[in-house]
Formats: sequence, structure tokens, C-alpha cells
Amino acid sequence: MSRRAPRVVVVGGGVAGLVIARDLARAGLNVEVLEGSRHLGGVVGPLTVQRDPTAQAAGRGRFRTVTVDAGAESFATRSVAVADLLEELHLTSRVVPPSPVGAWVAHDAGAAPLPRSGVLGIPTDLEEIERVAGRAAVRRARLDRYLPRRIGTGRAGTSVSLGHLVRARLGQEVLDRLVAPVAGGVHSTDPMLLDVDAVAPGLRRAVAEHGSLMAAAAALRAAAPAGAAVAGIRGGMHNLVTALADEVVGHGGVIRPGARVDAIERVAGTRRSPWRLTLADGATLGAAHVVVATDLPAAGALLTPLLPGVTIPQPSGGAGVSLVTLVLEHPDLNDAPRGTGVLVAPGAGPALGIRAKALTHASAKWDWVRDALPRDHHVVRLSFGRLGEADAPTASNDALISTAIHDVGVLLGVPVAPEQVVGSAVVRFPAGLPYAGVGHADRVRAVRAAAHEQPGLHVAGAWIAGTGLAAVVADARAVATALAEQLKNGTGHLAD
Ligand SMILES: Cc1cc2nc3c(=O)[nH]c(=O)nc-3n(C[C@H](O)[C@H](O)[C@H](O)COP(=O)(O)OP(=O)(O)OC[C@H]3O[C@@H](n4cnc5c(N)ncnc54)[C@H](O)[C@@H]3O)c2cc1C
Repeated sequence: MSRRAPRVVVVGGGVAGLVIARDLARAGLNVEVLEGSRHLGGVVGPLTVQRDPTAQAAGRGRFRTVTVDAGAESFATRSVAVADLLEELHLTSRVVPPSPVGAWVAHDAGAAPLPRSGVLGIPTDLEEIERVAGRAAVRRARLDRYLPRRIGTGRAGTSVSLGHLVRARLGQEVLDRLVAPVAGGVHSTDPMLLDVDAVAPGLRRAVAEHGSLMAAAAALRAAAPAGAAVAGIRGGMHNLVTALADEVVGHGGVIRPGARVDAIERVAGTRRSPWRLTLADGATLGAAHVVVATDLPAAGALLTPLLPGVTIPQPSGGAGVSLVTLVLEHPDLNDAPRGTGVLVAPGAGPALGIRAKALTHASAKWDWVRDALPRDHHVVRLSFGRLGEADAPTASNDALISTAIHDVGVLLGVPVAPEQVVGSAVVRFPAGLPYAGVGHADRVRAVRAAAHEQPGLHVAGAWIAGTGLAAVVADARAVATALAEQLKNGTGHLAD
């Protein structure tokens, strides 16, 4: 790396920031990552759960610690973005599919296995609908085949929500019992708020082409690579973060944890370092190029003064997510009574008397988690907090764990006594998940265009690329390629 190369500063050491820094460092550029917290990876990181001291004293539980993922635990395989990156990082041999037993959905009238063939819960055949939502729902969904293609898809140039499209073509029951739980699990919000073009690109066009929403979902699914819709890494997704950070440093890049950026300004008259970053401790740093790869609230705070006239969309009401991981010693769970886990239909919580919005039976989903524990031990993870539900994320850890112990029994259909819990941990994600609201694609275009007008300013991360590692990685790599190209060609405004 040339000492004289202009400095690129990446603000945010989540997966987006680390991917960009890794690609730039490999290209021989002078790159520095400023990460506000003490840990890299953002919402991707390890969580080590220890045996509860009370359980230990009572001779319950036969493990010392188990390490699982704190946040993201899988990646979508609909594109090759993550798989390609993992191959470059020599992690392919550790990529594993989840157990094929599949997940369930809980709604106010019971629980049923989720269809596995669709897209975001949109089923591809009527039998799947009958199993989860009953005959009346099938009768309504049948109309999908006969409705004019324009119904639900909106006019060209307008935005349509996922919920609107599903309700118009397949009916309310399919929306409530199939699509809302899956979309809520992935995006932490109501499908009526999600921009269909952002969360299921190509779906609207496929309806026009194939004549029905179910056929469109089947076509999109068929176009995706064969096999499970998601995959994980043996040992946890957090291994991706370690591998990325190792490569950044190995190629001469610098990573500074605990370096929160409070402000970014453009300084007139300095050709080589026109950007000045002010850190939380008051220190300042110059840069030729700045990549803002933080979470949504921080991106809003840092970019709003730089991009006048552009609104960085903040989720109203917040969607802070809290995850409770429990280690249970419970032989009745060995048969995975609800497969890999349960998604809860929005609105079903009060009828079922529960607060959780989803449960992952991690030791049933991933062989490597099961193998990390003695027989009859299980790891389950419950998530709390949906857009508009503000109290779950603010509850105390003890209150959340008690709620989780109650909810796990209801969701798995097997009574769970508090003494069967031999380890527990709570992880909070106050920034929650940025969701792609209706009109998201237009707002993203506006932010990108405004940033492009500011020479040397770049934006990345889930808040702009869309939620999920597949979207984040693909976008981050595109940002890195464009920036490296600029600097190589000397079109980077400040290249020497
Ligand atoms: C609980 C949870 C589970 C998920 N599960 C999955 C899953 O299984 N599969 C999947 O594909 N996706 C999943 N996702 C989504 C996916 O993990 C994210 O979309 C993706 O990891 C976001 O990466 P990012 O780098 O854009 O943002 P983040 O991970 O949020 O990283 C942003 C980083 O910026 C730092 N930062 C913030 N402000 C500043 C500042 N001022 N200065 C310096 N640094 C700053 C933060 O500390 C953080 O490290 C999940 C998300 C959550 C919350």
C-alpha cells in the first residue's frame, strides 16, 4: 500500500463497513475503519451463554458454556453474493444448510408447518394454504388465477406494499397467517408497510408475466439456487466478521474499535483530505473519501447536515429488537416438536398469551449447535419487539427472561419449568432493523444521488441496501468496486 495513497475512512465496522474495507485494502488502498463500539460486526457477533450458577449449585445442566450467534445466524442463498465472499475468505467448507425439518407458524387458532416453497411466506400451491389457513382461505386464494394481472400490482411508476399485493390477490387470511409472520420475522414490521419492490424484487413483474401471484412466487423461487433458502456457517455467522477483519488488517488496513464518529464535515481548500471527522473523544481525522456504513439512526445524524433537502428515512416508533437465548435441559425437545422454530402471526400474541414474535430452536436448526451441547440440552432463541411495540425492548433482562420461559412452552407446545432453564442471556439491538417502507426505492435513489453530488462521500449498510446479509454484502462490494475504480483511474476527486 502506498503511504501517499489518499486515505479512505469507513465509518462503522458492521458487515457492510468491513466488506468495503476488506475489498479496498486488498486493492492496495489506504483504508481505516472507525467502529463506535468495542466490538466489530454490528448485528453479527458471538454470544457465549454460561451455565446458570443456580443450576450449577443444584447440579442441573451438564455444560460450561456454549457460543452461538448473538444476532444474524444465517444468510439468504437466493443470490450468490454471500457464498462468493465466503469462498474468497476460504469459509466455503464451513457453510452448512439448516435442518430440513422446516419452521412453523403460530396464529390465534393454533400452529402449523410453514410452506417451504414460497417467497416471504407467499405460498405456491393451494394445499399449503389449506394446511395453515383453512378451506375458506383456499376458496379466496383460488381467485388469484382469474383476477386481471393488474389487480394488486399497481400502476407502473408507483410503489405498492407487499401486504397490499398479497391481500388483493390471495386474501386477508393468507396475508395474516402466512405472509405477515414471515415478513415480520425477517423485517420486523407489518407487510402493509413494506415496499414489495425492495423486499421481493421482480415479484410485481413476475405477476404480470405469469398471471398469478402464486405462479410468480414459484417462478422467483425456481430462479433461486437449488437447496435451502438460507445457509449458515458451522460455528456461527460471526466467523464471517473475524475473517473479514483479519483480511483488512492482513492487507495493511487499520481497524479502530471504540472510535465513534460524531460529525463529518467538508473542509474547504484542502485538496488531499477534504473530509474532517470528529470522534466522540474530540479527536479529528482527515480523509479523502468517507464511507458512511453505520446503522440507520447514526447514518441519519451524520448525513443530514451533509445532504440538505434529503430525508434519511427513520423508522417511526422504532423497532428495537431484544433476543433472549435460553439453554434448556429438556429431553422432550429432542424430537424438535416445532421443527426449526416458530414465527408468530402479528396479532396472535394476545390470543396465545405470549409476547415473543419468533422462536428459533437453534439446536434443532443447526447440527453444529446441537453437537456443542450434551444430550437433552437445547438452545432456543426468542425475539421480542415489533414496530409499534415499544415496551418489550425496554423491559428488564429478568422480566424478558421470565416472559421467554413462559412463551417457549406455549410456542413449542411442551411445558417448560423454570428449573429446566440452565442458562440464559439477553441481547438488545436498540437500532432494530431498518425496514424498506413503501417508496423506499425512491428515497434510496434520492440519498445515493445526493451523496454522489458530494465528491468523496459514499453510503452503505442495511439502511440503504436493504435488510439482510445478502443485500448488504452485494451492495457493499459494489460500493467498494466503484470507489477503487475511481481512485485507480484518478477520477477519485483527490487521487494523487
Ligand atoms: C437480531 C437480528 C437478527 C438478524 N438475523 C439475520 C439473519 O439471520 N440473516 C440475515 O441475512 N440478516 C439478518 N439480520 C440483518 C443483518 O444482520 C443486517 O442487515 C446486517 O448485518 C447489517 O449490517 P450493517 O453493516 O449494515 O449494519 P450494522 O450491523 O448495524 O453495523 C453498523 C456498525 O456501525 C457502528 N456505528 C454506528 N454508529 C457509529 C458511529 N457514529 N461511528 C462509528 N461506528 C458507528 C455500529 O456500532 C455497528 O457496528 C438480522 C438483524 C438483526 C438485528
